[in-house]
Amino acid sequence: MGNVRGRFAPSPSGRMHLGNLFSGLLAWLSVRAAGGTMVLRMEDLDPDRCKEEYAVQLADDLRWLGLDWDEGYQVGGPHGPYRQSERTDLYAGAFETLERQGLIYPCYCTRAERLAASAPHRSDGQAVYSGRCRHLTEAQRAELSATRRPAWRVKVPDRNIGFTDGLQGVYEENLLHDCGDFILRRSDGVYAYQLAVVYDDGAMEVNQVVRGRDLLDSTPRQRYLYELLGLTPPDFYHVPLLLAPDGRRLSKREKDLDMGALRERFTPEALTGLLAFWAGQLDKPEPVAPAELAQHFDWAKVPAGDIMVDPNHL
Ligand code: GLU
Repeated sequence: MGNVRGRFAPSPSGRMHLGNLFSGLLAWLSVRAAGGTMVLRMEDLDPDRCKEEYAVQLADDLRWLGLDWDEGYQVGGPHGPYRQSERTDLYAGAFETLERQGLIYPCYCTRAERLAASAPHRSDGQAVYSGRCRHLTEAQRAELSATRRPAWRVKVPDRNIGFTDGLQGVYEENLLHDCGDFILRRSDGVYAYQLAVVYDDGAMEVNQVVRGRDLLDSTPRQRYLYELLGLTPPDFYHVPLLLAPDGRRLSKREKDLDMGALRERFTPEALTGLLAFWAGQLDKPEPVAPAELAQHFDWAKVPAGDIMVDPNHL
């Protein structure tokens, strides 16, 4: 039990909101209840959206609630750096490992072409890539390269990849039919989340991943990359999303639920109590400190289904 290594891996692309905090608290509770090690990694891969000031704010918001971490951003540790923007060389190495296996190819499709050539949409609204650029000849590639910079995709197999989620149960996908070859490096050179997250969780020896249920369908892709990179996959717990009364996901757009607004309205203990109540850890929302909750944390009480939150009734 004592060697659980968990992490919180937020993207500093704005002020944290209630939904991020809910996932972060559960990740923290699960690690602390097991006497494990908590890692904080900043997933600031996208230079257009992520800012250091958001990362600083995020760390401050976590500490305000009463969460801490043993390794990571602002703290350091043996597996740094802990900002993805500083790990590009490492991703390049992982990418080369896959290239040497003959599994990577350049994709020249524009967005419009991609949509036109894609199979019917998946249940989550994403298109399944048809593999249009998988079979281009060298001559075709050379010609397209003259005017376009390619993105890079990994070939996926025609077989089911499944796993048992600690909260959602068995989940599987046939990557070829349900997803298609997916992008590992964008045309602007930025490595994709799917590659970076797998490489980092592997390199940081993370053996427990707790995150939002919206990432459940990324997991078969990630498990495939674990296989290809020879890394051991962690245990996964995909936690419920917080939804507005109309069924939409709470997001960074709900300004009244970002940490700036929440810190004005709540004490850390009152907010923790509310989150813990939604997470099934308290019978009613009453003030409590995260450290106190960790002593009684029980995954069996966490609901699997999404949670309706009415911002007007907080
Ligand atoms: N950086 C991702 C996000 O903020 C989370 C990645 C993960 O937990 O695997 O949505």
